[in-house]
Amino acid sequence: MLQGKTALVTGSTSGIGLGIAKALAQQGASIVLNGFGDVEGPKAEVAKAGVRVGYHGADMGQPGEIEAMMLYAAREFGRVDILVNNAGIQHVSRIESFPPERWDAIIAINLSSAFHATRLALPAMLSANWGRIINIASVHGLVASAEKSAYVAAKHGIVGLTKVTALENATSGVTCNAICPGWVLTPLVQKQVEARAAAKGVDNTEATRQLLGEKEPSMQFTTPEELGQLAVFFCSPAGNNVRGVAWNMDGGWAAQ
Ligand code: NAD
Repeated sequence: MLQGKTALVTGSTSGIGLGIAKALAQQGASIVLNGFGDVEGPKAEVAKAGVRVGYHGADMGQPGEIEAMMLYAAREFGRVDILVNNAGIQHVSRIESFPPERWDAIIAINLSSAFHATRLALPAMLSANWGRIINIASVHGLVASAEKSAYVAAKHGIVGLTKVTALENATSGVTCNAICPGWVLTPLVQKQVEARAAAKGVDNTEATRQLLGEKEPSMQFTTPEELGQLAVFFCSPAGNNVRGVAWNMDGGWAAQ
């Protein structure tokens, strides 16, 4: 379905981004990966779909590096047809003890990076009259939790940015939507499981049960594979007129 298209997925060396990159590759899209840590492993996993895979190591907190990444993608792949703004970090602390530099980093990486990548991707999408911008927000883009001020602010912000991007391009073939996962067992959440286990003096299984039990009625993690399939739907012809939605896959979290 996506042969001839190129998808750039930020923060795709791990977790949700990697799951989405694999799902888009399975539909035939060429993939540009981004993110830190091991690169060769994720590249090989995505390449199993038989598509071309590139990589750029831009730090998504740095606008100049985001520009270099978009130039790389245009030079090597011709155009970015599908942009998935996924890179994100977390810090858990009450506001009065929240380190200001962590606040700045979360706003830069989880929110401003999407603005920069979007503004740089839009001109080519508009001249082709086809594009998909998919912002990985969170159920925390719709509701809040204590001790996540920067994350919740950034995620509410990206849901707003999604709506504006959708509206500004509503008469074109470029759509913009957000995906709002509940708990997904990635390294970002594994850290929170381990912190809870240490704080409560319980093992990781019990900490996981408590984590899900507090917020997620299904008592199940959403998987990167399931999120990948939602991204595929947004890229399909059936998604042509889906614009500005914030679609949660959260086991009922926000329904409460
Ligand atoms: P993860 O830690 O597994 O992956 C994060 C990815 O972002 C990695 O590839 C990492 O290298 C990359 N990254 C981090 N900082 C970066 C930077 N400055 N520049 C470039 N890349 C950077 O996390 P994940 O759980 O897969 O999270 C992905 C996205 O999904 C985030 O935006 C997160 O907020 C969102 N999300 C996660 C959950 C969850 O439960 N895991 C739930 C809702 C939303």
